[in-house]
Amino acid sequence: MYITDLKHFLDGKGAIGPTMGPARAMAQFQTNVVACTTDTTDCAPDAPTCFKCKKSPVEVALARDESVVWKCPRCETEGRISNWQGTLWDLRDRPAPPA
Ligand SMILES: [Zn+2]
Repeated sequence: MYITDLKHFLDGKGAIGPTMGPARAMAQFQTNVVACTTDTTDCAPDAPTCFKCKKSPVEVALARDESVVWKCPRCETEGRISNWQGTLWDLRDRPAPPA
């Protein structure tokens, strides 16, 4: 189980901190999970592919304590992301796009 504080991946401006390597890939994965979980519109982005097995999109959900939980149905890697509120990937209150 990967427990993540999303703000640890962000720099002072709120952008993804790590610029390359595995840390960057992990940060990208985590922010994609948050975006797809918090975007409640019909055009929400698809869940990102599992960073571990790279074979299946992960399943995402918002837990009761507001942490974002994700699990790969294929390799069963799972994680929990906290402190995503107010980041660039918190899409909860975004106005719906014009029909
Ligand atoms: Zn997997």
